[in-house]
Amino acid sequence: MNIAPSPTLAVDAKAKELKAAGEDVCGFGAGEPDFDTPEFIKAACVQALAEGKTKYAPAPGIPPLREALAAKYRDQGVDDVTAAQCVISPGGKYSCYLAIQAVVSPGDEVIIPAPYWVSYPEMVKLAGGVSKVLFAGIDAGFKITPEALRAAITPRTRLFIINSPSNPTGAVYSSEELQALTEVALEAGIYIMSDEIYEYLLYDGVKHVSPASFSKEAAESVITVAGFSKTFSMTGWRLGTLMAAPAVAKAVTSLQSQTSSNATTFAQYGALAAMEQWDQSLAAIKEMLTVFDRRRLFLLEGLQAINGIECARAQGAFYLFPNIEKLGLSAADFAARILEEEKVAVVPGEGFGAPGYMRLSYATSDEVIEKGLERLARFCKKLG
Ligand SMILES: *Cc1c(COP(=O)(O)O)cnc(C)c1O
Repeated sequence: MNIAPSPTLAVDAKAKELKAAGEDVCGFGAGEPDFDTPEFIKAACVQALAEGKTKYAPAPGIPPLREALAAKYRDQGVDDVTAAQCVISPGGKYSCYLAIQAVVSPGDEVIIPAPYWVSYPEMVKLAGGVSKVLFAGIDAGFKITPEALRAAITPRTRLFIINSPSNPTGAVYSSEELQALTEVALEAGIYIMSDEIYEYLLYDGVKHVSPASFSKEAAESVITVAGFSKTFSMTGWRLGTLMAAPAVAKAVTSLQSQTSSNATTFAQYGALAAMEQWDQSLAAIKEMLTVFDRRRLFLLEGLQAINGIECARAQGAFYLFPNIEKLGLSAADFAARILEEEKVAVVPGEGFGAPGYMRLSYATSDEVIEKGLERLARFCKKLG
């Protein structure tokens, strides 16, 4: 089968390999928070294990967690959403896969804004669909326009994927921008998959909005995907969420029941604690955001000071996505050479549908950022 391995995981693996061999690597490849899961969440999981919550769970997830999720979305303005519309899966990535499999048939077109998260086009391929990529670079704030979306829709279009805050760019669409895009999709009668895995990782006072909250019609056509990995530093727990219209949620549940059965039962009790003890969760998120924000600005200033690098002030997630076209070599070559010559790991933009760019994660220590910036500056000077 012609499916490409995840390039983000590949760079991370190579950097870890060099590190294991004793090299002093500055890794900007991380796709996960460098914090531990909050203690109270771990404790709830341990307690669930002790209580024997070690058997199969219902395919769509344990009822109280689905209830808590529905309540959260009602709070965010998705009126009348019920637990029956919420599914817990083994990871946000799997939630995306389930959503795409549920609505995309062979030959269907799926519109994906680029730079995109690496897995979307491969998942569309797995469903037999055809990706239609809409590129929006740094000058467009990495955001597509409603006009561009409208122009890309054909009678074969089935799904539009949006990811705000974005991996890899960190860009965040405003409520107005999201509303305009949602309207175009609704008019055309296509589904929207809104990947909101970074919904809580926002800076500069920016607010998150779910497209499903815009109207009753939107709630019926938007499949909202999120999860616990990024918000609660729970990447290894493998817990994702999905909210959709009842018929889609039902199809997704059938698919899950025939593939993964259910997300790990005792892990779901940890996630339940995260939802139910929201004050503690908020405190943990706030603490993490304070650190991320400081690093974001430090890395941003450092990159903007390097000749040949152009970097936008991203307001979400934990990535910056500078343009390096002026340096005169491809992102893939840049990434390979700087890893070899300066032991700095960055992820080249090609895998995100954005040659000429690279992704730097600031989910790493201040020391790594400081040292990495020095090496980056030295390497770029050598090039220019
Ligand atoms: C990390 C990530 C996910 C899913 O992560 P899981 O660990 O599978 O929960 C989904 N979408 C984007 C854009 C991501 O960056």
